[in-house]
Amino acid sequence: MKLTRWLVCFAVFAFSLALYAASPKYVFMFIGDGMAANHRVMTDQFSRQIGRGPLAMDQLTVKGLTTTLSADKLITDSAAASTALACGVKAKNCMLGCDADGNYVPSCATLAKASGKKVGIITTVTTTHATPGGFYVRGRSRGKNYAVAADLVNSGFDFFAGGGLDRKFDDEKDSDYKKYGNIYEYAKKKGYNVVTTKKDFLALKPSDGKVLTRFTDLVYPYDIDITNDEAEVYPTLPELLEKCIAMIDNPEGFFIMVEGGRIDWSAHANDAATTVRDIIALDDAVKVALDFMKKHPEETLVVATGDHETGGLTAGIAGVTSTCDISILTNQTISAREFDEKMRQIVLKNPKFNFEDAKAMITARFGLKFEGDPKKDLMVLSESEIAKVKADFEADLAKLLANIIKKKDAVEYLTISKHRLSIRLLKIISKRAGVSWAHTHHSGQPVIISAEGCCAERFKGKMENSEVGKILKSFYEK
Ligand SMILES: [Zn+2]
Repeated sequence: MKLTRWLVCFAVFAFSLALYAASPKYVFMFIGDGMAANHRVMTDQFSRQIGRGPLAMDQLTVKGLTTTLSADKLITDSAAASTALACGVKAKNCMLGCDADGNYVPSCATLAKASGKKVGIITTVTTTHATPGGFYVRGRSRGKNYAVAADLVNSGFDFFAGGGLDRKFDDEKDSDYKKYGNIYEYAKKKGYNVVTTKKDFLALKPSDGKVLTRFTDLVYPYDIDITNDEAEVYPTLPELLEKCIAMIDNPEGFFIMVEGGRIDWSAHANDAATTVRDIIALDDAVKVALDFMKKHPEETLVVATGDHETGGLTAGIAGVTSTCDISILTNQTISAREFDEKMRQIVLKNPKFNFEDAKAMITARFGLKFEGDPKKDLMVLSESEIAKVKADFEADLAKLLANIIKKKDAVEYLTISKHRLSIRLLKIISKRAGVSWAHTHHSGQPVIISAEGCCAERFKGKMENSEVGKILKSFYEK
Protein backbone atom coordinates (compact mmCIF):
# COMPACT_ATOMS: atom_id res chain seq x y z
CA MET A 1 0.00 0.00 0.00
CA LYS A 2 2.75 2.33 1.00
CA LEU A 3 4.67 1.42 -2.14
CA THR A 4 1.62 2.18 -4.30
CA ARG A 5 1.24 5.58 -2.69
CA TRP A 6 4.93 6.27 -3.19
CA LEU A 7 4.67 5.30 -6.86
CA VAL A 8 1.67 7.58 -7.34
CA CYS A 9 3.55 10.47 -5.71
CA PHE A 10 6.56 9.82 -7.90
CA ALA A 11 4.40 9.67 -11.03
CA VAL A 12 2.74 12.99 -10.14
CA PHE A 13 6.14 14.56 -9.43
CA ALA A 14 7.61 13.25 -12.70
CA PHE A 15 4.55 14.45 -14.62
CA SER A 16 4.80 17.93 -13.04
CA LEU A 17 8.50 18.08 -13.83
CA ALA A 18 7.86 17.08 -17.45
CA LEU A 19 5.08 19.64 -17.66
CA TYR A 20 7.32 22.48 -16.49
CA ALA A 21 10.31 21.32 -18.51
CA ALA A 22 8.22 21.27 -21.69
CA SER A 23 8.27 24.39 -23.82
CA PRO A 24 6.07 25.29 -26.75
CA LYS A 25 7.88 25.56 -30.05
CA TYR A 26 5.33 28.04 -31.37
CA VAL A 27 3.87 30.77 -29.15
CA PHE A 28 1.07 33.19 -30.07
CA MET A 29 0.46 35.97 -27.55
CA PHE A 30 -2.63 38.12 -28.17
CA ILE A 31 -3.08 41.36 -26.23
CA GLY A 32 -6.20 43.49 -26.38
CA ASP A 33 -5.09 46.90 -25.14
CA GLY A 34 -7.60 48.05 -22.53
CA MET A 35 -9.54 44.78 -22.86
CA ALA A 36 -10.71 43.45 -19.50
CA ALA A 37 -13.44 40.97 -18.57
CA ASN A 38 -16.43 43.17 -19.40
CA HIS A 39 -15.05 44.12 -22.81
CA ARG A 40 -14.85 40.42 -23.58
CA VAL A 41 -18.33 39.72 -22.17
CA MET A 42 -19.83 42.59 -24.21
CA THR A 43 -18.10 41.48 -27.42
CA ASP A 44 -18.84 37.79 -26.89
CA GLN A 45 -22.55 38.59 -26.56
CA PHE A 46 -22.42 40.87 -29.60
CA SER A 47 -20.58 38.23 -31.62
CA ARG A 48 -23.14 35.55 -30.74
CA GLN A 49 -26.09 37.79 -31.49
CA ILE A 50 -24.87 38.79 -34.93
CA GLY A 51 -24.44 35.10 -35.80
CA ARG A 52 -20.63 35.04 -35.64
CA GLY A 53 -20.62 32.66 -32.68
CA PRO A 54 -18.67 33.01 -29.43
CA LEU A 55 -15.33 34.77 -29.20
CA ALA A 56 -12.57 32.30 -30.08
CA MET A 57 -10.38 33.80 -27.35
CA ASP A 58 -13.06 32.97 -24.78
CA GLN A 59 -13.21 29.37 -25.99
CA LEU A 60 -9.57 28.71 -25.06
CA THR A 61 -9.90 26.05 -22.36
CA VAL A 62 -7.56 27.35 -19.64
CA LYS A 63 -8.69 30.51 -17.82
CA GLY A 64 -6.98 32.80 -15.39
CA LEU A 65 -7.25 36.26 -13.89
CA THR A 66 -4.31 38.65 -13.75
CA THR A 67 -3.84 41.81 -11.74
CA THR A 68 -2.59 44.84 -13.64
CA LEU A 69 -1.09 47.24 -11.10
CA SER A 70 2.34 48.65 -11.92
CA ALA A 71 5.38 49.09 -9.66
CA ASP A 72 4.25 52.53 -8.53
CA LYS A 73 0.52 52.85 -9.30
CA LEU A 74 -2.69 50.93 -8.68
CA ILE A 75 -3.70 51.93 -12.21
CA THR A 76 -1.16 50.99 -14.85
CA ASP A 77 -0.40 52.45 -18.25
CA SER A 78 0.30 50.23 -21.25
CA ALA A 79 4.08 50.56 -20.91
CA ALA A 80 4.33 49.13 -17.39
CA ALA A 81 1.68 46.51 -18.23
CA SER A 82 3.51 45.39 -21.36
CA THR A 83 6.80 45.23 -19.45
CA ALA A 84 5.14 42.92 -16.90
CA LEU A 85 3.63 40.67 -19.57
CA ALA A 86 6.78 40.57 -21.70
CA CYS A 87 9.67 40.84 -19.21
CA GLY A 88 8.18 39.33 -16.04
CA VAL A 89 8.85 42.35 -13.83
CA LYS A 90 6.81 45.28 -12.51
CA ALA A 91 7.99 48.60 -13.92
CA LYS A 92 6.89 52.12 -13.05
CA ASN A 93 4.26 53.67 -15.32
CA CYS A 94 5.62 54.89 -18.67
CA MET A 95 8.69 52.63 -18.43
CA LEU A 96 9.50 49.88 -20.93
CA GLY A 97 11.80 46.86 -20.63
CA CYS A 98 13.11 47.49 -17.11
CA ASP A 99 12.48 46.78 -13.45
CA ALA A 100 11.17 49.31 -10.92
CA ASP A 101 14.67 50.83 -10.59
CA GLY A 102 15.03 51.30 -14.34
CA ASN A 103 17.47 48.43 -14.89
CA TYR A 104 17.13 46.75 -18.28
CA VAL A 105 15.36 43.37 -18.19
CA PRO A 106 15.15 41.32 -21.41
CA SER A 107 11.72 40.23 -22.63
CA CYS A 108 10.45 36.77 -23.53
CA ALA A 109 10.72 37.79 -27.21
CA THR A 110 14.38 38.80 -26.77
CA LEU A 111 15.11 35.46 -25.07
CA ALA A 112 13.18 33.60 -27.79
CA LYS A 113 15.29 35.30 -30.45
CA ALA A 114 18.52 34.53 -28.57
CA SER A 115 17.49 30.88 -28.31
CA GLY A 116 17.25 30.60 -32.09
CA LYS A 117 13.53 31.18 -32.59
CA LYS A 118 12.12 33.82 -34.92
CA VAL A 119 10.03 36.69 -33.58
CA GLY A 120 7.07 38.60 -35.03
CA ILE A 121 5.40 41.71 -33.57
CA ILE A 122 2.04 42.85 -34.96
CA THR A 123 -0.15 45.76 -33.83
CA THR A 124 -2.87 48.12 -35.02
CA VAL A 125 -1.12 51.11 -33.45
CA THR A 126 2.43 52.27 -34.22
CA THR A 127 5.01 49.50 -33.87
CA THR A 128 6.84 51.82 -31.45
CA HIS A 129 3.79 52.10 -29.17
CA ALA A 130 3.87 51.00 -25.54
CA THR A 131 2.56 47.43 -25.87
CA PRO A 132 4.83 46.29 -28.72
CA GLY A 133 7.64 48.29 -27.08
CA GLY A 134 7.58 46.10 -23.96
CA PHE A 135 8.85 43.22 -26.10
CA TYR A 136 11.99 44.91 -27.44
CA VAL A 137 12.78 48.24 -25.68
CA ARG A 138 15.95 48.13 -23.61
CA GLY A 139 14.94 49.96 -20.45
CA ARG A 140 13.68 53.46 -21.15
CA SER A 141 10.60 55.70 -21.08
CA ARG A 142 7.93 55.18 -23.75
CA GLY A 143 8.25 58.90 -24.50
CA LYS A 144 11.75 58.51 -26.01
CA ASN A 145 10.30 58.08 -29.48
CA TYR A 146 13.47 57.92 -31.49
CA ALA A 147 15.39 55.71 -29.06
CA VAL A 148 12.40 53.34 -28.90
CA ALA A 149 12.41 53.13 -32.73
CA ALA A 150 16.17 52.45 -32.68
CA ASP A 151 15.63 49.67 -30.11
CA LEU A 152 13.05 48.18 -32.49
CA VAL A 153 15.55 48.05 -35.34
CA ASN A 154 18.39 46.89 -33.10
CA SER A 155 16.24 44.05 -31.68
CA GLY A 156 16.86 42.12 -34.88
CA PHE A 157 13.36 40.63 -34.61
CA ASP A 158 12.18 39.15 -37.88
CA PHE A 159 8.81 40.75 -38.55
CA PHE A 160 7.20 44.04 -37.51
CA ALA A 161 3.81 44.90 -38.97
CA GLY A 162 0.93 47.28 -38.32
CA GLY A 163 1.08 51.05 -38.03
CA GLY A 164 4.27 53.00 -38.77
CA LEU A 165 7.13 53.64 -36.37
CA ASP A 166 5.86 56.93 -35.00
CA ARG A 167 5.19 60.36 -36.39
CA LYS A 168 7.73 61.87 -34.00
CA PHE A 169 10.59 59.50 -34.75
CA ASP A 170 12.28 61.69 -37.33
CA ASP A 171 13.03 64.69 -35.14
CA GLU A 172 16.41 66.06 -36.18
CA LYS A 173 16.79 67.77 -32.81
CA ASP A 174 16.65 64.41 -31.05
CA SER A 175 20.14 63.41 -29.88
CA ASP A 176 19.56 59.82 -31.01
CA TYR A 177 18.74 61.05 -34.51
CA LYS A 178 22.34 62.19 -34.90
CA LYS A 179 23.48 58.66 -34.11
CA TYR A 180 21.23 56.75 -36.51
CA GLY A 181 19.85 59.27 -39.02
CA ASN A 182 16.54 58.53 -40.74
CA ILE A 183 15.16 55.51 -38.93
CA TYR A 184 13.75 53.79 -42.02
CA GLU A 185 17.11 54.15 -43.78
CA TYR A 186 18.77 52.73 -40.68
CA ALA A 187 16.29 49.81 -40.70
CA LYS A 188 17.17 49.08 -44.34
CA LYS A 189 20.88 49.11 -43.46
CA LYS A 190 20.16 46.56 -40.73
CA GLY A 191 18.54 44.23 -43.25
CA TYR A 192 14.85 45.15 -42.98
CA ASN A 193 12.64 45.08 -46.04
CA VAL A 194 10.53 48.25 -45.50
CA VAL A 195 7.17 47.48 -47.13
CA THR A 196 4.83 50.39 -47.89
CA THR A 197 1.95 48.85 -49.85
CA LYS A 198 -0.51 46.04 -49.18
CA LYS A 199 0.24 44.59 -52.62
CA ASP A 200 3.96 44.32 -51.86
CA PHE A 201 3.20 42.98 -48.41
CA LEU A 202 0.96 40.18 -49.65
CA ALA A 203 3.59 39.27 -52.27
CA LEU A 204 6.37 38.84 -49.65
CA LYS A 205 8.18 35.50 -49.66
CA PRO A 206 10.24 33.97 -46.81
CA SER A 207 13.39 34.54 -48.88
CA ASP A 208 12.72 38.31 -48.71
CA GLY A 209 14.13 38.41 -45.16
CA LYS A 210 13.15 40.68 -42.28
CA VAL A 211 10.04 42.84 -42.58
CA LEU A 212 9.06 46.28 -41.31
CA THR A 213 5.78 47.70 -42.63
CA ARG A 214 5.03 51.34 -43.31
CA PHE A 215 1.45 51.45 -44.60
CA THR A 216 1.11 54.65 -42.58
CA ASP A 217 3.26 56.74 -40.27
CA LEU A 218 0.43 56.69 -37.77
CA VAL A 219 -1.96 54.03 -36.52
CA TYR A 220 -4.39 51.72 -38.31
CA PRO A 221 -7.91 53.07 -38.81
CA TYR A 222 -10.52 51.58 -36.49
CA ASP A 223 -11.91 48.39 -38.00
CA ILE A 224 -15.38 50.01 -38.14
CA ASP A 225 -13.96 52.86 -40.29
CA ILE A 226 -12.23 50.71 -42.89
CA THR A 227 -13.89 51.55 -46.19
CA ASN A 228 -13.23 49.85 -49.52
CA ASP A 229 -10.51 52.41 -50.24
CA GLU A 230 -8.78 51.80 -46.92
CA ALA A 231 -9.09 48.03 -47.33
CA GLU A 232 -6.83 48.51 -50.37
CA VAL A 233 -4.18 50.11 -48.15
CA TYR A 234 -4.30 48.10 -44.91
CA PRO A 235 -4.06 44.31 -44.63
CA THR A 236 -6.44 42.98 -41.95
CA LEU A 237 -5.08 41.64 -38.64
CA PRO A 238 -5.64 38.01 -39.82
CA GLU A 239 -3.78 38.85 -43.05
CA LEU A 240 -0.90 40.36 -41.07
CA LEU A 241 -0.70 37.23 -38.91
CA GLU A 242 -1.00 34.79 -41.83
CA LYS A 243 1.86 36.55 -43.60
CA CYS A 244 3.91 36.66 -40.40
CA ILE A 245 3.52 32.89 -39.96
CA ALA A 246 4.43 32.26 -43.61
CA MET A 247 7.53 34.47 -43.29
CA ILE A 248 8.95 33.23 -39.98
CA ASP A 249 7.85 29.59 -39.72
CA ASN A 250 11.05 27.59 -39.34
CA PRO A 251 12.31 24.35 -37.73
CA GLU A 252 13.33 26.14 -34.51
CA GLY A 253 9.89 27.67 -33.92
CA PHE A 254 8.70 31.24 -33.25
CA PHE A 255 7.20 33.74 -30.83
CA ILE A 256 4.51 36.08 -32.19
CA MET A 257 2.77 38.92 -30.31
CA VAL A 258 -0.41 40.37 -31.84
CA GLU A 259 -1.94 43.50 -30.32
CA GLY A 260 -5.39 44.99 -30.85
CA GLY A 261 -3.99 48.40 -29.90
CA ARG A 262 -6.93 50.67 -30.58
CA ILE A 263 -9.40 48.76 -28.40
CA ASP A 264 -7.98 51.00 -25.67
CA TRP A 265 -8.52 54.16 -27.71
CA SER A 266 -12.18 53.49 -28.48
CA ALA A 267 -12.76 52.51 -24.84
CA HIS A 268 -11.20 55.85 -23.79
CA ALA A 269 -13.83 57.44 -26.03
CA ASN A 270 -16.57 55.21 -24.50
CA ASP A 271 -17.40 54.10 -28.05
CA ALA A 272 -18.93 50.62 -27.59
CA ALA A 273 -19.58 49.75 -31.26
CA THR A 274 -16.03 50.67 -32.27
CA THR A 275 -14.63 48.71 -29.32
CA VAL A 276 -16.48 45.47 -30.13
CA ARG A 277 -15.46 45.71 -33.80
CA ASP A 278 -11.77 46.07 -32.91
CA ILE A 279 -12.00 43.16 -30.45
CA ILE A 280 -13.61 41.01 -33.15
CA ALA A 281 -10.78 41.96 -35.54
CA LEU A 282 -8.31 40.69 -32.90
CA ASP A 283 -10.43 37.57 -32.39
CA ASP A 284 -10.32 36.87 -36.13
CA ALA A 285 -6.53 36.76 -35.78
CA VAL A 286 -6.89 34.34 -32.80
CA LYS A 287 -8.71 32.01 -35.20
CA VAL A 288 -5.68 32.09 -37.53
CA ALA A 289 -3.48 30.93 -34.63
CA LEU A 290 -5.94 28.18 -33.72
CA ASP A 291 -5.87 26.95 -37.33
CA PHE A 292 -2.06 26.82 -37.10
CA MET A 293 -2.36 24.90 -33.83
CA LYS A 294 -4.42 22.19 -35.57
CA LYS A 295 -1.32 21.40 -37.65
CA HIS A 296 1.05 21.42 -34.63
CA PRO A 297 -1.17 20.51 -31.67
CA GLU A 298 1.57 19.26 -29.35
CA GLU A 299 3.96 22.18 -29.88
CA THR A 300 1.77 25.29 -30.05
CA LEU A 301 0.61 27.64 -27.30
CA VAL A 302 -2.05 30.34 -27.80
CA VAL A 303 -2.53 32.95 -25.05
CA ALA A 304 -5.05 35.83 -25.10
CA THR A 305 -5.26 38.59 -22.52
CA GLY A 306 -5.56 42.34 -21.95
CA ASP A 307 -3.00 44.68 -20.44
CA HIS A 308 -5.48 46.67 -18.29
CA GLU A 309 -9.06 47.88 -18.22
CA THR A 310 -10.17 51.06 -20.00
CA GLY A 311 -13.37 53.05 -19.54
CA GLY A 312 -14.76 51.48 -16.37
CA LEU A 313 -17.02 49.42 -18.58
CA THR A 314 -20.01 47.65 -17.08
CA ALA A 315 -22.04 45.11 -18.99
CA GLY A 316 -25.68 45.67 -18.10
CA ILE A 317 -27.50 48.75 -16.80
CA ALA A 318 -29.94 48.64 -13.91
CA GLY A 319 -33.46 49.62 -14.96
CA VAL A 320 -33.11 48.98 -18.69
CA THR A 321 -32.12 45.30 -18.63
CA SER A 322 -35.44 44.16 -20.10
CA THR A 323 -35.22 46.43 -23.13
CA CYS A 324 -31.52 46.73 -23.95
CA ASP A 325 -30.01 44.78 -26.82
CA ILE A 326 -26.27 44.53 -27.52
CA SER A 327 -26.87 43.73 -31.20
CA ILE A 328 -28.11 47.29 -31.82
CA LEU A 329 -24.43 48.27 -31.95
CA THR A 330 -24.58 47.02 -35.58
CA ASN A 331 -26.53 50.23 -36.35
CA GLN A 332 -23.41 52.32 -35.73
CA THR A 333 -21.22 52.20 -38.83
CA ILE A 334 -18.58 54.80 -37.97
CA SER A 335 -16.38 55.60 -34.98
CA ALA A 336 -17.34 58.71 -33.04
CA ARG A 337 -13.94 60.25 -33.88
CA GLU A 338 -14.46 59.75 -37.61
CA PHE A 339 -18.02 61.06 -37.34
CA ASP A 340 -16.66 64.21 -35.64
CA GLU A 341 -14.16 64.73 -38.44
CA LYS A 342 -16.76 64.18 -41.16
CA MET A 343 -19.04 66.71 -39.46
CA ARG A 344 -16.19 69.21 -39.22
CA GLN A 345 -15.36 68.88 -42.91
CA ILE A 346 -19.01 69.23 -43.95
CA VAL A 347 -19.51 72.38 -41.86
CA LEU A 348 -16.32 73.91 -43.25
CA LYS A 349 -17.61 73.38 -46.79
CA ASN A 350 -21.20 74.30 -46.02
CA PRO A 351 -21.70 76.84 -43.21
CA LYS A 352 -25.48 76.56 -43.73
CA PHE A 353 -25.43 72.94 -42.59
CA ASN A 354 -28.32 72.66 -40.14
CA PHE A 355 -29.99 70.25 -37.73
CA GLU A 356 -32.22 68.74 -40.45
CA ASP A 357 -29.04 67.79 -42.38
CA ALA A 358 -27.45 66.45 -39.20
CA LYS A 359 -30.50 64.30 -38.44
CA ALA A 360 -30.08 62.45 -41.73
CA MET A 361 -26.38 61.91 -40.98
CA ILE A 362 -27.13 60.64 -37.46
CA THR A 363 -29.74 58.18 -38.75
CA ALA A 364 -27.42 56.98 -41.51
CA ARG A 365 -24.35 56.43 -39.29
CA PHE A 366 -25.79 55.66 -35.83
CA GLY A 367 -29.19 54.23 -36.80
CA LEU A 368 -31.02 56.54 -34.38
CA LYS A 369 -34.44 57.67 -35.64
CA PHE A 370 -36.22 60.97 -35.09
CA GLU A 371 -39.71 59.66 -35.87
CA GLY A 372 -41.68 56.68 -34.63
CA ASP A 373 -42.67 55.12 -31.34
CA PRO A 374 -39.76 54.65 -28.89
CA LYS A 375 -41.73 51.91 -27.15
CA LYS A 376 -41.93 49.84 -30.33
CA ASP A 377 -38.53 50.57 -31.84
CA LEU A 378 -35.38 50.73 -29.72
CA MET A 379 -33.69 53.07 -32.18
CA VAL A 380 -36.36 55.81 -32.01
CA LEU A 381 -35.28 58.78 -29.91
CA SER A 382 -37.59 60.16 -27.23
CA GLU A 383 -38.62 63.83 -27.33
CA SER A 384 -36.29 64.71 -24.49
CA GLU A 385 -33.40 62.91 -26.22
CA ILE A 386 -34.08 64.79 -29.46
CA ALA A 387 -34.01 68.08 -27.54
CA LYS A 388 -30.62 67.19 -26.03
CA VAL A 389 -29.21 65.98 -29.37
CA LYS A 390 -30.34 69.25 -31.01
CA ALA A 391 -28.81 71.41 -28.25
CA ASP A 392 -25.50 69.52 -28.53
CA PHE A 393 -25.50 69.86 -32.32
CA GLU A 394 -26.13 73.62 -32.07
CA ALA A 395 -23.30 73.99 -29.55
CA ASP A 396 -20.88 72.04 -31.79
CA LEU A 397 -21.96 73.98 -34.86
CA ALA A 398 -21.23 77.30 -33.15
CA LYS A 399 -17.76 76.08 -32.15
CA LEU A 400 -17.04 74.69 -35.62
CA LEU A 401 -18.10 77.93 -37.31
CA ALA A 402 -15.96 79.93 -34.88
CA ASN A 403 -13.08 77.53 -35.68
CA ILE A 404 -12.71 76.62 -32.01
CA ILE A 405 -12.70 72.90 -32.88
CA LYS A 406 -9.63 72.20 -35.00
CA LYS A 407 -8.70 69.26 -37.18
CA LYS A 408 -8.72 66.11 -35.17
CA ASP A 409 -5.37 64.79 -34.16
CA ALA A 410 -5.36 61.02 -34.46
CA VAL A 411 -2.64 60.65 -31.87
CA GLU A 412 -4.18 62.78 -29.14
CA TYR A 413 -6.69 60.10 -28.33
CA LEU A 414 -6.73 60.71 -24.60
CA THR A 415 -8.23 64.15 -24.91
CA ILE A 416 -11.95 64.19 -24.32
CA SER A 417 -13.75 64.86 -27.58
CA LYS A 418 -14.75 68.50 -27.96
CA HIS A 419 -17.82 67.36 -29.87
CA ARG A 420 -20.81 67.25 -27.56
CA LEU A 421 -23.01 65.66 -30.22
CA SER A 422 -20.99 62.45 -30.67
CA ILE A 423 -20.58 62.08 -26.90
CA ARG A 424 -24.39 62.32 -26.59
CA LEU A 425 -24.96 59.78 -29.38
CA LEU A 426 -22.51 57.31 -27.80
CA LYS A 427 -24.27 57.63 -24.45
CA ILE A 428 -27.65 56.92 -26.06
CA ILE A 429 -26.32 53.96 -28.06
CA SER A 430 -24.52 52.46 -25.03
CA LYS A 431 -27.68 52.73 -22.93
CA ARG A 432 -29.77 51.04 -25.65
CA ALA A 433 -27.12 48.31 -25.93
CA GLY A 434 -27.04 47.79 -22.16
CA VAL A 435 -23.49 48.90 -21.38
CA SER A 436 -22.26 51.79 -19.30
CA TRP A 437 -18.92 53.51 -18.77
CA ALA A 438 -17.68 54.93 -15.48
CA HIS A 439 -14.97 57.19 -16.93
CA THR A 440 -12.65 57.76 -19.89
CA HIS A 441 -9.40 56.47 -18.36
CA HIS A 442 -7.81 53.21 -17.28
CA SER A 443 -8.91 51.39 -14.14
CA GLY A 444 -7.18 48.91 -11.86
CA GLN A 445 -9.51 45.99 -12.60
CA PRO A 446 -7.90 42.61 -13.26
CA VAL A 447 -8.06 41.10 -16.75
CA ILE A 448 -8.90 37.64 -18.04
CA ILE A 449 -6.15 35.51 -19.50
CA SER A 450 -7.09 32.44 -21.54
CA ALA A 451 -4.82 29.85 -23.09
CA GLU A 452 -4.81 26.65 -25.08
CA GLY A 453 -2.17 24.14 -26.11
CA CYS A 454 1.32 23.26 -24.90
CA CYS A 455 1.88 24.55 -21.31
CA ALA A 456 -1.48 26.37 -21.30
CA GLU A 457 -2.31 25.04 -17.82
CA ARG A 458 0.46 27.23 -16.38
CA PHE A 459 -1.77 30.27 -16.92
CA LYS A 460 -4.60 28.86 -14.81
CA GLY A 461 -5.82 30.75 -11.73
CA LYS A 462 -5.14 34.19 -10.32
CA MET A 463 -1.70 35.73 -10.78
CA GLU A 464 0.20 38.99 -11.07
CA ASN A 465 0.65 40.16 -14.67
CA SER A 466 4.41 39.86 -14.17
CA GLU A 467 3.91 36.10 -13.58
CA VAL A 468 2.70 35.85 -17.19
CA GLY A 469 6.02 37.29 -18.39
CA LYS A 470 7.95 34.96 -16.08
CA ILE A 471 6.15 31.92 -17.50
CA LEU A 472 6.76 33.04 -21.10
CA LYS A 473 10.45 33.69 -20.35
CA SER A 474 10.85 30.28 -18.73
CA PHE A 475 10.24 28.69 -22.15
CA TYR A 476 13.51 30.17 -23.39
CA GLU A 477 15.71 30.12 -20.30
CA LYS A 478 18.28 27.37 -20.35
ZN1 LIG B 1 -5.13 53.83 -22.68
